[in-house]
Amino acid sequence: MTEITDITDVYVRIECDLLVVGDSIMTDRHHASSDNYEDDDPQNQIGGIIPAYPLSGWLRHGMEKVVQERGGTACHPGEPNANFMKSDVYDRDLEAGYHEKGACVDDPKDDNGCVIFDLFGGFDGFPGKLMRRPIKFSPVRSSVKYERGQAEGHYRRLNRNIVSRNEEDNREPLRNTEIDAVANLDGCWHLSFRETKPEFLGLLAEAIEFLNAHNTDFMHQLGGSRNFGAGIVYCDLVNPLYEERELKRVFDRGKGNTNKMDDKDERWAENHRHEIEDALASRIDGDDE
Ligand SMILES: [Zn+2]
Repeated sequence: MTEITDITDVYVRIECDLLVVGDSIMTDRHHASSDNYEDDDPQNQIGGIIPAYPLSGWLRHGMEKVVQERGGTACHPGEPNANFMKSDVYDRDLEAGYHEKGACVDDPKDDNGCVIFDLFGGFDGFPGKLMRRPIKFSPVRSSVKYERGQAEGHYRRLNRNIVSRNEEDNREPLRNTEIDAVANLDGCWHLSFRETKPEFLGLLAEAIEFLNAHNTDFMHQLGGSRNFGAGIVYCDLVNPLYEERELKRVFDRGKGNTNKMDDKDERWAENHRHEIEDALASRIDGDDE
């Protein structure tokens, strides 16, 4: 029987038709390019890395919502004195389900703070107990190592011409912008707990369900270009009871669940979900005392 606290590595399945992460997708283009390299050639076999920052922010926001919907308040992600121009935004947030960042902690050395602070940390040297990794993607599915938190994905460079709107200019192009994007992303995001608490898994499970259910809400989309249909993520927490070969099977379109996997699904739903949800409920109650 698996103890919840023995689970240190979890995987979130991420599927997204088009993901734009600002300028921050790193690619292997320099490896793949030869003299006749063309950005938009569909034959390009370019992989890359989606950094953890946008993924982390997306997950954190989902977790904050879960805490708030359960009646708690979440650590604000921003420093209280970061930007006085925005102080009205900050004050408004404090009235809408947030407490000041780190206000839940007296001494970070022996105080865990609220569940969000516990997971994400908040001050230099206090990294939080949830380790978020980047996602490495490759267009060649056979080389994707799902058990290492990788994904199938196709790098695309989108070109946009910004044209003059002044009639005399006859729509003269002013500048050309290039946007890095990943199309048809499907794979795993690997998360690890530096220390596992049942409420962490409860919050993760509920946040992933929340994000999946709200994946077309502007606030819960991932990355940039959200106004243009990018960043709609279908996500699912892969059963943490699965072993490595079972995890791989999830992504094998030719194979279904084994009986053993079905048993584990039932065990997760029947036994562990209550345990982690109860733990989350009492943690949030305790945090706000
Ligand atoms: Zn807090």
